[in-house]
Amino acid sequence: MRRLLIVLAALGVLAAAGVLVWLPFRGHSRAAAPRRRTRSTRVEVSTGPPPPKPPTGPHDAPVPILMYHVLAPPLPSAPYPDLYVKPADFRAQVAWLAAHGYHAVTLRQVYDYWRGAHGLPRRPVVLTFDDGYHSDFTVALPTLRARRWPGVLNLEVRNLQPVWGTRPGMVRKLIAAGWEIDAHTMTHPDLTTVDAAQLRYQVAGSRAAIRRMFDVPVDFFCYPSGRYDDAVVAAVRDAGFLGATTTNEGFARPDALFTLDRVRVNGSDGVAGLAAKLEHGA
Ligand SMILES: [Zn+2]
Repeated sequence: MRRLLIVLAALGVLAAAGVLVWLPFRGHSRAAAPRRRTRSTRVEVSTGPPPPKPPTGPHDAPVPILMYHVLAPPLPSAPYPDLYVKPADFRAQVAWLAAHGYHAVTLRQVYDYWRGAHGLPRRPVVLTFDDGYHSDFTVALPTLRARRWPGVLNLEVRNLQPVWGTRPGMVRKLIAAGWEIDAHTMTHPDLTTVDAAQLRYQVAGSRAAIRRMFDVPVDFFCYPSGRYDDAVVAAVRDAGFLGATTTNEGFARPDALFTLDRVRVNGSDGVAGLAAKLEHGA
């Protein structure tokens, strides 16, 4: 019992230090705890000492969520060249963000802040990477890790494969670096056009698959191509997600948890384009 109390007290100190929010992203080796859900970590903590007092003041500030896709020069044949951001441009944008007081956080941290659970850095920004490309691992991970910043991977389960995709080992390294892994369906259909069974498979199925494979919470969803309607939003809620991101332009707000706006970063933006979007609220 005494030992338990000491452990609980230590967890309380961690929570007070703001470290708690990182615990869900530490992951657990599947060999050590094959079926354990990260959710159980939070349950254990909630039985400990009372949580630290939430910071005072309003907790409803909008937060910019940047949307990236491929970090590479566009192929000559690429149908959507603006989805490609050159690695040098990406590094310059991250350096600009840091120089201007921004600090990357996860969606879970933003959600907890909106609920009044804890504060955020003075200038928070979420960096999301859609689909699951090789460059999430080769470009985004080292660039963000150098600043101890987390990213958010919106993973399409089909992209867990070699060549252009993010292989499972790569995703595990992202998780180890503090990244949040969210669901972006199994195969990226327009969810407004599929039947009820397919909707469940794509929404609840992708959450279950990623949780099973990586033992992380997968609390947020990202609509493929930004397509959603009332039935799609209901499916996302029913699957247990806490919120979802769109491709609608703007800063994310707590009164629209299931239709969170984002700031699209285009290949043509460079540093000046990103700075202008952040200055004007996208
Ligand atoms: Zn996508």
